[in-house]
Amino acid sequence: MKNILITGGAGFIGSNLALKLIDQGYFVTVLDNLSEQIHGDDPDKSFTYNLIKNKVNMIVGDVNNSSDWEKVLKDCDVVVHLAAETGTGQSMYEIDKYVASNIGGTAKLLESLTNKENNVKKLIIASSRAVYGEGKFECRDHGIVFPESRLERYMSNGDYEVKCPICFQNVKMLPTDENSKLHPTSVYGFTKQAQEQLCMIVGKSIGLPVIAYRFQNVYGPGQSLKNPYTGILSIFSTIIKNGNDINIFEDGLETRDFVYIEDITDAIILGIEKNEVDSYVFNVGSGEKTDVLKVANTLKDKYGVDVKVNVSGNYRLGDIRHNLGDLNFIKEKLGYQPKISFEKGISNFVDWVELQNVEKDNYIKSIQEMKEKGLYK
Ligand code: NAD
Repeated sequence: MKNILITGGAGFIGSNLALKLIDQGYFVTVLDNLSEQIHGDDPDKSFTYNLIKNKVNMIVGDVNNSSDWEKVLKDCDVVVHLAAETGTGQSMYEIDKYVASNIGGTAKLLESLTNKENNVKKLIIASSRAVYGEGKFECRDHGIVFPESRLERYMSNGDYEVKCPICFQNVKMLPTDENSKLHPTSVYGFTKQAQEQLCMIVGKSIGLPVIAYRFQNVYGPGQSLKNPYTGILSIFSTIIKNGNDINIFEDGLETRDFVYIEDITDAIILGIEKNEVDSYVFNVGSGEKTDVLKVANTLKDKYGVDVKVNVSGNYRLGDIRHNLGDLNFIKEKLGYQPKISFEKGISNFVDWVELQNVEKDNYIKSIQEMKEKGLYK
């Protein structure tokens, strides 16, 4: 299993994975359309593209194009399908684009695998914790519950806590395991759920093992500092580096499971190397939760730039309150163990950002787009 195809391999996770695989003796092909939102209008200046372009068999192409799949699948042993549109908020108004790339592109891959001769022995796909929506909680009176999106009538009164869907009292967050109810609160999350299910159904019918990784919030060197639609650490970094103040949504106490890029690439390689004939879905995270206010203040302190961190009470419809992945299954099956603490990871990330050019701060523009669609309050 030496020939690995990485779609989206010029991006954040893909480029880090490609370099690690090459170091370990694999031969890597990358299929990537060098999307302007991620790489800017001159891909030759893209940090992650430059990391890999002379080290991999680089095919500039689109997952929505069947003939591009035929070019890259021929000699491939394992497909790691990462290419996707990735902005949760943006997906709520660019619906066609998200469905076309994330579901349509995967359908094109599965058609090629089903109908064209190939040697692919395993398919690995990047899913997301977004498939769970708010995730798993415990109600004092009703036990384990999987609440729907939070309601505007509470949020507009400054109550951001997740409620029991039966009695509407506040509930306690639990780590969300893979058997939790799937009910995404965003179009992005829906496309990831559909992608997973498509791959599982077709994989079974053609005898191809599939691993779907539900990544938590991935961060680290290589994260696009240009993209204002996704990645809290990179968005805050670009805001701070421009000397602009940070607007923290809700009360700042919303939490995320921030997982460092090396833990993610290690998990993918464990999946590539595990001799398995069955298909699996795994959470991949850090096992730690960190609130957004702490992220902003830590970054501000580390960059040493005097900007204000304002907790505004604004909120975005479709955002979740908390997330923390339950990692028991991936630990047991693949021997995965996250190694990088948030303190260490954020220091590495900041050291890397300090070496990059300061990108234009387009965050306000992205928020304006959400405001115009009535998704930002
Ligand atoms: P990224 O935006 O840095 O990389 C995605 C790459 O895909 C980019 O290089 C882009 O040019 C390419 N791409 C986009 N559309 C394409 C298309 N139609 N055809 C070919 N290439 C295309 O994103 P990332 O953070 O590296 O994420 C990789 C995968 O992991 C995505 O599927 C994403 O949904 C998933 N994921 C990421 C996170 C995270 O926190 N980074 C969390 C959960 C899931």
